[in-house]
Amino acid sequence: MPTESTFLLAGLFLLLAAAGWAMGRFGERDEDEAPPPLNIDYLKGLNFLLNEQTDQALEHFLKMVRVDDKTIETHFALGSLFRRRGEVDRAIRIHQNIIARPDLASEQRDQALYSLAKDYLAAGLLDRAEKLFTRLADGSRYQVQALEALCGIYEQEREWQKAIEAGTRLEVLGGRSLKLQIAHYYCELAEVAASAGDYASARLFVKNAQSGRPRTMRGALTRAHIARDTNDNKTALKLYHRIIDENTYLIAEALPEIVSIYTREDEVAELERALKAMIAKNPDMSSLVAYTAIVNDIGGISVIDECVEEYMLNEPTLGEFVELQQISAAVNDEGGTAFAKVRGALSKLAAATPRYQCQECGFSSQRLLWQCPSCREWETQRPASRVQFDTVLQHSITK
Ligand SMILES: [Zn+2]
Repeated sequence: MPTESTFLLAGLFLLLAAAGWAMGRFGERDEDEAPPPLNIDYLKGLNFLLNEQTDQALEHFLKMVRVDDKTIETHFALGSLFRRRGEVDRAIRIHQNIIARPDLASEQRDQALYSLAKDYLAAGLLDRAEKLFTRLADGSRYQVQALEALCGIYEQEREWQKAIEAGTRLEVLGGRSLKLQIAHYYCELAEVAASAGDYASARLFVKNAQSGRPRTMRGALTRAHIARDTNDNKTALKLYHRIIDENTYLIAEALPEIVSIYTREDEVAELERALKAMIAKNPDMSSLVAYTAIVNDIGGISVIDECVEEYMLNEPTLGEFVELQQISAAVNDEGGTAFAKVRGALSKLAAATPRYQCQECGFSSQRLLWQCPSCREWETQRPASRVQFDTVLQHSITK
């Protein structure tokens, strides 16, 4: 089957044939200019295409049409078209062909290098892309784009120190704040240091992360995790509570930690008191506490169990399946067991559906991802606040 590239190149050959014919007919050419290629050349190119030898046809085209001021834009257009169509090898071949031209103006060379760097990026050849973008980031007119691309590459390669350097330069040159993004780079460094047991460096990185505005809550969360891992429970609890106060959506990350610290310390009464105070201050927290408890299968703590029961009784979709009001009215053990069963089933449902969703692009995942893998934005994910019955139902229908 002839592909779109076949038609594209065939079109170019036909255009060239027409131009050659016109040139030959009117004879308007300079003395030092190469003679127009013979018709046989076009036919040869077309023949390759008819035999579906697109690469040979492309080579033939590149040999026939030298890169000069008149044709360079055609070469660029052809190159970017190939890249957009995912035929990166061909795009690379065209851009390398432009760069090989010895008398290329520096502006055109930069444009060709930038295009080639984008080809490498599209082909996943990150090292080569990085090398070219680094060169372009030093004084070309593609400085800003090159630095943006470098940030993306360093994020993929998890080279956070280099990402910080590129991001800091980009802030100055691009004239827009990248504070949040750079703060996350520092948090990444902090997490790496903490997991290697280097808590002093980790604390320093968190400090850097929290120096800018807008401040990321991830800094506080990382600090809380460091306190937890170094057995500084008092600080850890203080921080986890503050995180929930300031950003209720992070309850899914902080509440299980709070429960686990109090339980480990055998201070369940203290936990009940703290949670009661939290809900009294903000009654909306009750359903968030319930949902977090269901998702993480946290039970046996009366404040939390009350939240869960209330949540289940007020869940309209659930009411279509189970007569929870009746179960609740049953004062004997039977009621309790039935409730526990429904709750267990809810936990399983919640575990089978995505818990977080990106507010920018809708990408969803099971655990919190600070950078969305789809749109690459930072801190755009938010957790679901209730069991996604529709998703579960869709899931079971399509299965
Ligand atoms: Zn996204």
